[in-house]
Amino acid sequence: MISLQTAVLFSLPSYHRGDKRTRQKMSFFGFCSAGGFLPITGRLSLTARRLSSKIGAEERRPQAAGRSGITVKRNYQAEMEAEIERLGGRRPALLLHSCCGPCSSAVLERLTAHFRVTVLYYNPNIEPEEEYRHRLAEQERLLSLLPGEIPLLNCAYDHEAFSAFAEAMADCPEGGDRCLACFALRLNETARRAAENGFEYFTTTLSVSPHKNAEAVNRIGEEAGRKAGVRYLMADFKKKDGYLRSLQLSREYGLYRQDYCGCLYSRRTL
Ligand code: SF4
Repeated sequence: MISLQTAVLFSLPSYHRGDKRTRQKMSFFGFCSAGGFLPITGRLSLTARRLSSKIGAEERRPQAAGRSGITVKRNYQAEMEAEIERLGGRRPALLLHSCCGPCSSAVLERLTAHFRVTVLYYNPNIEPEEEYRHRLAEQERLLSLLPGEIPLLNCAYDHEAFSAFAEAMADCPEGGDRCLACFALRLNETARRAAENGFEYFTTTLSVSPHKNAEAVNRIGEEAGRKAGVRYLMADFKKKDGYLRSLQLSREYGLYRQDYCGCLYSRRTL
């Protein structure tokens, strides 16, 4: 019988299916998420299994199927553009979950024209703590260099919230169930903070990375928004050369670009 992890692994797009050369190139650039594929050996704890099967079900749900049963791939960039069009020039408040300064650079450039953006750096997945603080400092430095005022909401380093489920998923490959749970942790908290602070929208920088499955990120974000009662802005920030632009801006601002995604499981695959 195929394990849940294996099913998720083979259902993801090709870059998750071990496009190691691409990953190595990205490591060369020293950008966000590098990693390979580990043998799937571990057994998930009951809690972790429940969590992963819930998120995995979301992940496997067809994106949009017509009467013919053919699955139509959603275009999240186009959905974002349509949402912006509906604003009619109004600039609502948006809370942006940022994973790091480099990823946020191009996303902020794209969003600040249409929204009053505040950044939330909620990333308890990053370890060790020293690395977390280094990335946070780079995030703050970038915000101080960008034109206009972009506030940053404070967060504690809540690493226990991540390790509570991640340890049981240590052997999941990057892009697998541990990552889906990691997205959910960060997006649920962003949605909660957005609702608490009266933001009309929230979204995340995560889709700017070629290593992150935009479909999974958006489904999890949409679900988090529905639960918290705040609108999630669909997006695929890597589209329209978003990722390339983030590399360009990172060079321009001299930003530190890490060579692993965030957790130690992603670091050990380097
Ligand atoms: S590799 Fe680690 S830090 Fe990156 S998304 Fe997956 S679980 Fe989170």
